[in-house]
Amino acid sequence: MTGFKLLTYADERGVARPGLLVDGRVIDVNDSAESTLALIRDWDAAEPLLAARAEAAAAAGEGWNLAEVKLLAPLLYPPAIYCAGANYMDHAKEMAGGDPGIDKSQKQPYFFLKSQHCVVGPGDPIRLPRVSQKVDWEAEFAVVIGKAARNVPVEHAHEYVAGYTIMNDVSARDLGPRPDWPRFGVDWFGHKNFESAAPMGPWIVPASQVADHTALGIRLWVNQEKMQDSTISQLIFNVAEQIEYLSRRMTLHPGDVISTGTPSGVGRPRGIFLKPGDTVRVEIDGIGELANPVEQGE
Ligand code: MN
Repeated sequence: MTGFKLLTYADERGVARPGLLVDGRVIDVNDSAESTLALIRDWDAAEPLLAARAEAAAAAGEGWNLAEVKLLAPLLYPPAIYCAGANYMDHAKEMAGGDPGIDKSQKQPYFFLKSQHCVVGPGDPIRLPRVSQKVDWEAEFAVVIGKAARNVPVEHAHEYVAGYTIMNDVSARDLGPRPDWPRFGVDWFGHKNFESAAPMGPWIVPASQVADHTALGIRLWVNQEKMQDSTISQLIFNVAEQIEYLSRRMTLHPGDVISTGTPSGVGRPRGIFLKPGDTVRVEIDGIGELANPVEQGE
């Protein structure tokens, strides 16, 4: 079967269109659906049709060179973005400043939400909001749900996954503590939500094309300095356990994204934060690379 990646690109008028990456070339699939979300809504039916389309395109040498195409976030407006907190052992240690005391038999996954309006695409700027002076990076392996999932047990969880992408869970570290609201603990909205706080992409790799996602390496650079370097196998709660937990509370819908947590190597413990002129680059083996410049925003 010809492999393909599912993407969104901007045509010459700047209009978002769904496409496939096949052998380094981008082909348009707007005749099949108006968006990648529309394809994912009926993923089990769409995937074999897209695979056939990819095979024909590869045989014909159809498409544009990737370098000539402006990619957008693979899902412009994911219905929901669920983010796992403190879900790599090494990251939990660095944020706790010591042993985080994680005993899985005594714990369940921990999630917060990110607004779909935080999403930007590959190459788009991360715009530092004026309300924060401590904006930090978090490289994450992100799961895209492919069909409605409610009360899904661990052993069936992967049947509900359409594919995988990369998310940078950009975080305003100084907006988490709320001394003006001591009863409320951490302010997860302030910490995690501002425009451009969710760079996503560069595309979605169908789960059927990834033999073992736990073996994938995940790395992040700020400019030339490697800051994070781990593998998905280091997740405390794995993808299936996250789907089970979430789907007992909410129906997971096609196109929902679960960003599965970040490994150690964020800036906060070192007192390093993003500044205008930086470039953040995340790489996950077999998925791709997501790079975003940093600018001062409003
Ligand atoms: Mn995170």
